[in-house]
Amino acid sequence: MLLAGFMVVSGWNVHEHATSIVDEHRFHQLVERIRAAVYEEQRAGFDAIDQELISDRSPESLHEEIDRALTDLRDSSPIDVEEVFAELTSAHELADVTLDELLVARAAGQVDLEAERAAYRDAIDRFSALVDRQVSRSRVEFDRSVARLESTDDRMRVWAPAVFAVCAAALAGFGLVLRRFRTMIVHQTLHDTLTGLPNRNLLTERAEQALAIARRSGADTAFLLIDLDRFKEINDTLGHRYGDLVLAEIGPRLLGRLRDSDTVARLGGDEFGVLLTNISGPDAAVRIAEDIAAALRETMSIGDLTFELEASIGVAVAPYHASSSVELVQKADVAMYLAKASHSSVALYRPEADEHSPERLALLGELRTAIEAGQLALYLQPKIGVAAGALQGVEALIRWRHPVHGLIPPDRFIPLAEQTSLIEPLTAWVIAEAARTARRWEQAGLHLPIAVNVSARSLGDLDFPEQVASIVDTIGADRSSIEIEVTETSIMREPERARTVMRALSELGFSIAVDDFGSGYTSLSSLRTLPVDELKIDRMFVAGMRNEPNDAVIVQTVVDLGRNLGLLVVAEGVEDDETRAALDAIGCPVAQGYFWSRPLPIEEFEAWRAERDRSAEELNPLG
Ligand code: C2E
Ligand code: CA
Ligand code: CA
Repeated sequence: MLLAGFMVVSGWNVHEHATSIVDEHRFHQLVERIRAAVYEEQRAGFDAIDQELISDRSPESLHEEIDRALTDLRDSSPIDVEEVFAELTSAHELADVTLDELLVARAAGQVDLEAERAAYRDAIDRFSALVDRQVSRSRVEFDRSVARLESTDDRMRVWAPAVFAVCAAALAGFGLVLRRFRTMIVHQTLHDTLTGLPNRNLLTERAEQALAIARRSGADTAFLLIDLDRFKEINDTLGHRYGDLVLAEIGPRLLGRLRDSDTVARLGGDEFGVLLTNISGPDAAVRIAEDIAAALRETMSIGDLTFELEASIGVAVAPYHASSSVELVQKADVAMYLAKASHSSVALYRPEADEHSPERLALLGELRTAIEAGQLALYLQPKIGVAAGALQGVEALIRWRHPVHGLIPPDRFIPLAEQTSLIEPLTAWVIAEAARTARRWEQAGLHLPIAVNVSARSLGDLDFPEQVASIVDTIGADRSSIEIEVTETSIMREPERARTVMRALSELGFSIAVDDFGSGYTSLSSLRTLPVDELKIDRMFVAGMRNEPNDAVIVQTVVDLGRNLGLLVVAEGVEDDETRAALDAIGCPVAQGYFWSRPLPIEEFEAWRAERDRSAEELNPLG
């Protein structure tokens, strides 16, 4: 009787807990599927906003996929999901509507990229937070059921022998079966069904463990984020089943190049992650990544087709770039975008790239082609004699006429270009365009110097002076009509080199202006030894000079300094006549600013100049 009662209660408990495990597991799989799709949809959404084609899938197709996953959840979840379904569906709709509205506004010509991204991020974050909450809830429930099952199992094994020896054997056997069952289910929640590789959950778990161990041992842990390039083509042309076979092939390939202690995981879609424990620094991680890229490039044959895969791999290393697993994955993601943007297979995370979020890196990728596509334009801003208003020269300021984002100011892309060798063709383009304009003017009998801005990178390049001379000579402009502006801070980056380059430029016949003067700390003695012709006072001081006594002192000092050293002084950023008059009063000879003209496209500048000449003639017909 006792035995029977015990068996019934225990059996019922086991049944209850096992059912609940299976149910939770099923639910977990269903929401995991939604989560994977959200992850991709989010990426595709941002890509759509940025007009980038990094994502392999369109937001629409991903949207449908999420809808299907949601419907599946409603129809086949073993636990009640009515409320969850309603909540998720409405959050998803909201994210979708937001994206649509943004894209419609975009098409209507309203472009505020940052605001668009923020709005979409809010909407999709809300949705993905809801999904995450369901994922964690189901995990907690799942673990709880497993624990309950285990304790029932333990109770049975402890008490059963005391009750009846024969039953003990049977129950122990039953327990064994249960444990196997549990192992199987645990395996499934931590692995990707298609490839059998660990999934994101397991990878995160292992990364946490590895980081904890590494913190004590002082070893390095690296994470490689691998994104297959053009996987969409395989899927589209050969079908999803074929794509699946390709994906299944990746794991064995990667594992062949790694140690047993490393983890290869599939993170979703065509994205894989590799966790490397115990490595010796970022260089070692990059080498392994390059090895993996090479392994992926090796010809793959499936059925009777052969082809090569390309991948972009982002590398981040703890403790250099991150201290938690989440951070490590994020940094690798930034690095992966760096790789995509520079069309290289492997990129190591760079902290300075982080302020340039993925969308800005995408912009960098486009800048490469912008030069050839003729999307860059020079705008000209006049330099004017402060006292009598005579035109003294112009400064060339670059703009990017982006086919989608509209006119992009230099601050948005020059700093990016400066981080790569892209700044070199860009500077060469600016110099050539300025030289072409100068030549046209010279032919029309006008000698008006054009100043071009060059970056710190050029100042560190010993070949730069010869390159400038060769561009200007080839175009046939007069060297004296091209002036080179270098900022004070870029001189200070590598003063010796900068001095050499500036000397060479000067000897070749180009005049040199020190830009944003006053914002750095060039010593007077070094200024004397540099071949400088002109000092440009930073706009910041000029703007503040009428209200800030300190600024006024700085402006006055630079004007005096210029006079004593025989240098031309140009004040930047004059926006009103009061400032002009104040400059005139302290003897500043030349200035530029919105007061006279904003930077204008070359043709508009020419029209502006012609108009000025005409009205001057009307005022003073005898010349
Ligand atoms: P910068 O050389 O100091 O250029 C002066 C900036 O002040 C320009 O901004 C100009 O439009 C702006 N400005 C002129 N007058 C006024 C004014 O009265 N009020 C105000 N608020 N601003 C005024 P822009 O064109 O946006 O250029 C920004 C910076 O980008 C430049 O600063 C320069 O450092 C860089 N840059 C522009 N073109 C090039 C280029 O071709 N090559 C390189 N390496 N850098 C460039
Ligand atoms: Ca300048
Ligand atoms: Ca300046």
